[in-house]
Amino acid sequence: MNLSEEHLTANYARYPVEFVRGEGARLWDADGVEYLDFLAGISVSNVGHCHPAVVAAVQEQAARLIHVGNLFYTEPMTALAGRLARSLGPGAKVFFTNSGAEAVEAAIKCARKAKQGGDVISLQRAFHGRTYGALSATPQESKQAPFAPLVPGFRSCEPTAAAVAAAVDDRTAALILEPVQGEGGVWVLDDEVLVAAREACDAHGAALIFDEVQCGLGRTGTFWHFEQTPVVPDLLTTAKGLGGGLPVGALIAGPAYADVFAPGDHGSTFPGGPVIAAAAHAVLDVVADAGLLARVRDAGERLRATLAELPGVGDVRGRGLMNAFDLDAGGAPELVRRALLEERLVLNATGPATVRLLPPLVVSDAEVDEALARLRRLLG
Ligand SMILES: *Cc1c(COP(=O)(O)O)cnc(C)c1O
Repeated sequence: MNLSEEHLTANYARYPVEFVRGEGARLWDADGVEYLDFLAGISVSNVGHCHPAVVAAVQEQAARLIHVGNLFYTEPMTALAGRLARSLGPGAKVFFTNSGAEAVEAAIKCARKAKQGGDVISLQRAFHGRTYGALSATPQESKQAPFAPLVPGFRSCEPTAAAVAAAVDDRTAALILEPVQGEGGVWVLDDEVLVAAREACDAHGAALIFDEVQCGLGRTGTFWHFEQTPVVPDLLTTAKGLGGGLPVGALIAGPAYADVFAPGDHGSTFPGGPVIAAAAHAVLDVVADAGLLARVRDAGERLRATLAELPGVGDVRGRGLMNAFDLDAGGAPELVRRALLEERLVLNATGPATVRLLPPLVVSDAEVDEALARLRRLLG
């Protein structure tokens, strides 16, 4: 820990725990102490830590070919693109990235090229990443202010149907939103907001971007969250859970935007490499399973019902296994710290009064009950 302070930049506030091993929803620290993981690396380890199919796929592919770059064809990437593109219908195409922020950058560049310029509108409470374009679409003073000036042409509006309808006009290139706002504290946007966004974008020739980096890939109980809504986006971003812990993201461009990028427009050295694509195939085999998705929905309902009964808990929000609760008296960061150090339960605070739970999607009923018992002890 002292060496970390000495050699790493100070931008993360780390807890005094060093993890060395993981399996399913369990983690072990350097002293061999076991923890229950209800954060999953922020919705990354959706299939659980070290899922055997992911481990085997990575080991096998790493022994055959690790990297050649995007000047050549590789089969794992092409097959993965096919599996993802299907989500937005015939004619959709995929651009791979290394992260969520880069998927957002690609979406913004795609929308602006299609419109030959134009503004980008995001919603208040949004989080789209830390690179300049993604940060410019993340209307949070504390994250933006130290890095001004930001990219020109970005505006934000309230996450309401009326505000969205009023914000989009003929100069709008894109409206970007998270259908479930994650970092903002797990806010499920109403269908009427999404419908208003779809209608406004259609009326003004703007791209509707759904950022499903956190809420996609089974997290809310369907493969993509938009499947639970009446709206299909033009552009969809994914990342976090896609590689089973390895860094991979993607922009899925629906048919109207699939052919916007031309050779030389955009690119990156690493994305879609064989090892990461092999891992993602193994992940998709697990999370695209109807039985698993039904379990995610059931477990989420049970979790929210019990959370609502815990002492000191106010609003409980979420879908599937993407959930948060507010503490009536605040103190979320302190509760998260005590949960980790006293109860060996890994959680996360998205704000002073909000605790977020993002367990692996393979979490068992017994593990959900165990996490709730540990929380009850802390809150009791
Ligand atoms: C985490 C996140 C991002 C950024 O992803 P990185 O991989 O950290 O760049 C973008 N959008 C949403 C909704 C996220 O939750």
